[in-house]
Amino acid sequence: MHIALNKPKQLVVGLTGGIGSGKTAVSSRLQTLGATIIDTDEIAHSLTKTGGLAIPDIQKAFGREALLPDGSMNRDHMRALVFKEPDKRIALEKILHPKIRQLVQQQLDTGATLYFVLVVPLLFEKGGWGELMDEIIVVDCPVEQQVQRVIQRNGWPETQVRAVIQNQATRKKRLAGATEVIENNGGLAELIKKIDFLHQKLIKKAQK
Ligand code: ATP
Repeated sequence: MHIALNKPKQLVVGLTGGIGSGKTAVSSRLQTLGATIIDTDEIAHSLTKTGGLAIPDIQKAFGREALLPDGSMNRDHMRALVFKEPDKRIALEKILHPKIRQLVQQQLDTGATLYFVLVVPLLFEKGGWGELMDEIIVVDCPVEQQVQRVIQRNGWPETQVRAVIQNQATRKKRLAGATEVIENNGGLAELIKKIDFLHQKLIKKAQK
């Protein structure tokens, strides 16, 4: 449970789902409807861009080769490194996670909103976020649909998409942790209807 001092409690809704499940489609619709979106991937990106708050620690821990000439984190280099060496992944997460947490908390403390949507793509893989969340929305669809969507959107080879899915939590695990599920297995118009319905439900919970 999220407890903010000197402030009425505000509803914090976690949003997660596998790659290509439709998290962005869901969060942008909820934003249009009036929710405030806090995206942990966007925060991680801002921390590791040129001049980002995590850059000095990343350079200290991984050397100059962890950075591109413009001073931003070299994502390709770091992705390959943490894939090969799990202790490096832990070291990078130790740098990023507390800073992401701090920035999330800042946004929760300063936002005035119907409710917050906290997007954590790897919620069930990483842990550590659950106690901030009053609800957990899982966006779910069959794996084959994830594969098709990501191939179409990113132009990746199928094997790459399947390798990412293989490294993420299973559908079963995610669904077991959900308080709300959005089945995104139809068209976009159908998805919008489901989101609008869920929004009404969340508004009622936020007003309790
Ligand atoms: P990632 O984990 O990679 O960030 P995501 O979960 O945010 O992905 P989206 O980017 O929302 O997923 O959706 C993946 C792709 O599938 C996008 O191109 C999106 O427009 C498309 N898409 C999502 N839902 C539907 C749908 N119901 N019908 C058609 N296309 C969809």
